Amino acid sequence: MIAKTLFAKPLQWIVFLSLIAAGYIGLGKFSIYFSTMPEGIAIAWLPNGLLLTLFLLRPIREWVRYALVIIPAEIVADIPDFTLFQAIQFALINLAETMFSAFLIRRFSPDGHNFHNLRYFLLFVIVALTLSPALSAVLGAFVYHTQIESQSNFLAFWRIWLFGDALGILLITPLLVSWYEMKKQLSWRFSSWEQVVMIPLTLILAYLLFSSEFTPNLLPMTPIIFILALLWMSYRRGLMESVTMSVLLSIIAIYFTVHKQGPFSVFNGVQNTLYLQEFIATLVITTLFFSVLLRQVNEKTILLEKLSKNLEDQVREKTNALQMANQKLFELATTDPLTHIYNRRFLEERAEQEVSRAIRHKSHLSLIMFDIDFFKTINDTYGHHAGDDALIALTQTVISRIRQDDIFARIGGEEFVILMPNTMLDEAVILATNLKEMISHLTITTEYSTISLTISIGISALSDKCDCYETLLDHADTLLYQAKEAGRNRIVWRDNSAKTHIKN
Ligand code: GH3
Ligand code: MG
Ligand code: MG
Repeated sequence: MIAKTLFAKPLQWIVFLSLIAAGYIGLGKFSIYFSTMPEGIAIAWLPNGLLLTLFLLRPIREWVRYALVIIPAEIVADIPDFTLFQAIQFALINLAETMFSAFLIRRFSPDGHNFHNLRYFLLFVIVALTLSPALSAVLGAFVYHTQIESQSNFLAFWRIWLFGDALGILLITPLLVSWYEMKKQLSWRFSSWEQVVMIPLTLILAYLLFSSEFTPNLLPMTPIIFILALLWMSYRRGLMESVTMSVLLSIIAIYFTVHKQGPFSVFNGVQNTLYLQEFIATLVITTLFFSVLLRQVNEKTILLEKLSKNLEDQVREKTNALQMANQKLFELATTDPLTHIYNRRFLEERAEQEVSRAIRHKSHLSLIMFDIDFFKTINDTYGHHAGDDALIALTQTVISRIRQDDIFARIGGEEFVILMPNTMLDEAVILATNLKEMISHLTITTEYSTISLTISIGISALSDKCDCYETLLDHADTLLYQAKEAGRNRIVWRDNSAKTHIKN
């Protein structure tokens, strides 16, 4: 098991490094044989694109391994076109160039090694496409000038090297980086008809354009249409697909130009190369820039949407909390903490409304007020807790008997009121009789004994003489007092002819 794990990693490394070497050699041979103009000028030096991708995506501690593989790979790619000594020098120059670029890009774009923001893109253009190739071109041109063909102009070598390196990197690095990213996200979206139509159509058009015969008086303006196609593609499909497409178009353009066909074959060799290189640079950089820009805008938009959604959620949460707090506050303000029925304050508020409603609708309204008999004695005998339990049991009994519309409130220590809309005095007397009966049969069990209670009741009803809540309450209170006077456990009310009734 241990042996396997130990071996598994080196094996993976051997495979990976071999693939890199093969890729480097392949791209090198491709650059030398495929993209070299008949005049011997290479249009794009592609291996550096692979190198830069590695140095951008892989940890710095792995760089030495890649460097050690690249030197022999460069030798294989260059021989027999160059000597061993020249190949080694080229390898060192290429490594130095791409490492320098990768180091600077990574150093100054800490948000990740990808084309997600403009800063990364600009660093890529300034460092990898301009600064590093320009520096390495000095060394490359020096090797060419001193060891290969000393007659030619040093600056001409420099320019060819610079353009070749920059174009090679431009064609390969964004392509590989975007494909590497896609591999992680794996979002192939080959569904839309645009994709199905656009890709073949653009490629066919490119084939037709670049393989056609051009005459010098027909200026090579037509390749510009591919920029529009690629802008559309980056808008609709994103970075990976538009960059891939721009590379495919560039390969077509290079192939036919090398074979002296298409719009870049009408001038002499150096001019043709220059125009082609400018076209490819414009095509790929524009596509890349537009894709990066769009991507950044999209990311910002998504972020904004997320933020505003968070904000909405927070507001909703706070509103709910506030509603709950209000509900709680309302309960605290309107209910009695011990029995959880309404308190005196709430009764007063509601009673005013009920009285005016009853007067307006000419409907009945009755009020029962009751007080527990000798409650002080109960407290003294069984304790305050037992008294509380008795109060709770009593309210439960009353609640079980009254209607939904009745307003039941505790207005004092052991004094209660039931306000009954749409209830005549006679009905109230029946209910009071009932309640008195039920409560007298109520037994509250305490730890040591059982308590029984009786109540005294006064009943009043809305009438011509009693037409407001205060008098309604006053009358009931007076009658309740009479019930106590008459011996307690009694109901007292006064009928329409002002006759007082006392019921046992
Ligand atoms: P009666 O009404 O029959 O004249 O006699 P009483 O003993 O009930 O009369 P009173 O109104 O003087 O006594 C009321 C007692 O109710 C006094 C107090 O100890 C008790 N009480 C008031 N509020 C509470 C309460 O919340 N819990 C308990 N356990 N007792 C209370
Ligand atoms: Mg009492
Ligand atoms: Mg009392």
